[in-house]
Amino acid sequence: MDFSSKLLENAVNEVSRLPGIGKRTALRLVLHLLKQPQEHTKYLTEALSVLRNEVKTCRKCHNISDTVLCDICANPNRNAEVICVVEDIRDVMAIENTAQFRGVYHVLGGKISPMEGIGPQNLQIESLVEKVKNGEVKELIFALSSTMEGDTTNFYIYKQVAPYEIITSTIARGISVGDELEFADEVTLGRSILNRIPFENSLNRG
Ligand SMILES: [Zn+2]
Repeated sequence: MDFSSKLLENAVNEVSRLPGIGKRTALRLVLHLLKQPQEHTKYLTEALSVLRNEVKTCRKCHNISDTVLCDICANPNRNAEVICVVEDIRDVMAIENTAQFRGVYHVLGGKISPMEGIGPQNLQIESLVEKVKNGEVKELIFALSSTMEGDTTNFYIYKQVAPYEIITSTIARGISVGDELEFADEVTLGRSILNRIPFENSLNRG
């Protein structure tokens, strides 16, 4: 791409570093901003830099939070002994939208993926196992997407917590294999949380 302006080129290059944004789309977005009032760009860049500087991760569940303890963990009406294990905040949001779950979450921050060089030590697994060891947990509900990485991660955690007397379950997915949780409709997802099945039963589906 031949730019008549170095300033424009720099902006386009930065925007195009975002996932799913090619150079053409980046150029369109940047030109759009240039046509808007100047405050528009100011609000956008301020929102992003305040987010980057001030956002925290909840010290209990590792979800993205504005406070040391997120609203869900801090809520005394939530059952802290029932923990739903998810990959990231998008899954928390999807499950919260169903209004069917009164427990808390544990956000792993990803899935085990040897292909991408992500091992158990790169995820928030140890702190989860620690909660189980400390007797803080009655039930773990695995709610990772049913991909190979999701299954591997579930099974790894399952093995880690197997020596302890807790219930392990998985959400009964009316959703086809490989579907991401965040795209599931609320009713289906809500139902699958209520109708969760023992984790052992999910292992021999072939
Ligand atoms: Zn939390």
